[in-house]
Amino acid sequence: MPVAEFGLIERYFRGIGPALDSTVSGIGDDCAVLQPPRGQQLLVTTDTLVEETHFLSGTDPESLGHKVLAVSLSDLAAMGATPRWAMLALSLPTVSESWLEAFSAGFSLLASRYEVQLVGGDTTRGPLSITVQGIGTSPAGQVLYRSNAKPDDGVYVTGFLGDAGLGLKGCLGKAECSFTMRQRLERPEPRVDVGKTLCGLASACIDISDGFAADLGHVLESSQVGATVDWNLLPLSTEVRDYLLRSGDVRLPLCAGDDYELCFTVPRERENDLKSRLRSLPCPVTRVGTIERLPGLRFANLESSLDRPLGGYEHFS
Ligand code: ADP
Ligand code: MG
Repeated sequence: MPVAEFGLIERYFRGIGPALDSTVSGIGDDCAVLQPPRGQQLLVTTDTLVEETHFLSGTDPESLGHKVLAVSLSDLAAMGATPRWAMLALSLPTVSESWLEAFSAGFSLLASRYEVQLVGGDTTRGPLSITVQGIGTSPAGQVLYRSNAKPDDGVYVTGFLGDAGLGLKGCLGKAECSFTMRQRLERPEPRVDVGKTLCGLASACIDISDGFAADLGHVLESSQVGATVDWNLLPLSTEVRDYLLRSGDVRLPLCAGDDYELCFTVPRERENDLKSRLRSLPCPVTRVGTIERLPGLRFANLESSLDRPLGGYEHFS
């Protein structure tokens, strides 16, 4: 790699996040060397954001830096992990220092908040594409999987559904929406603290990246169960409610991607534990339905008929 590009790594990517004791060696060698704490398992996830597929061209680089890390932290949160390290692979059409500075600032702020250290990556020339690998740890035996939901468990979601979808419609000029909705699209908040709180409590958990119905569907399939969700219980922001009244577009909160909320299940006898554990966290959590033996996802109190199946976003369909 030419010296100039190495200088960019030094300037914009070294020193992101805290220097963790568990990092033996970070940026600067052929590999990072990591020492997971004793008795902990490593959880590893990768996500790529490609211009025009995952974000609109012209999206501000600071938001991109935030979002690409948030997406990985959300996967770690869904399994109850403590995020620790990240790797960043960047493909850039040109080197713009102002772009890199803003991107690195967005990434860095979120990394510092969750004490995630950037320990390596790759920088190449090509169409704009950003890949982050997130690495976290969990005490052995405490990981949250998708596959253990049981009949009679409650179905819960964090935050609000459909805000990011409305934000996207706003950016595309297809609906009116506020700056807050666009922020929900561009700067999602990974539910790391909720995920950690759910360890040893939730029977199954997933993050909502492709749409609530599709992602809950993954839990149901993995767990070989079904569920009924009460439309009236879905947590919807005032702005999404107003949009639904105007448009009748009930698919938005059910199918739009990019919410990065958690959807999880909790056995009935642990509901009080859940309530007391969540009391110290600022994030709202709502019970929206119940797991059932009969496979499939059903909705109660949904008046509009759904003309098409409630699929989530799929790249190759
Ligand atoms: P190599 O050619 O041996 O794979 P590079 O010259 O690509 O190494 O990278 C030099 C060092 O800089 C490595 O430690 C690598 O992990 C790190 N690095 C490269 N690009 C990035 C980036 N975008 N973010 C963080 N670290 C990076
Ligand atoms: Mg090498």
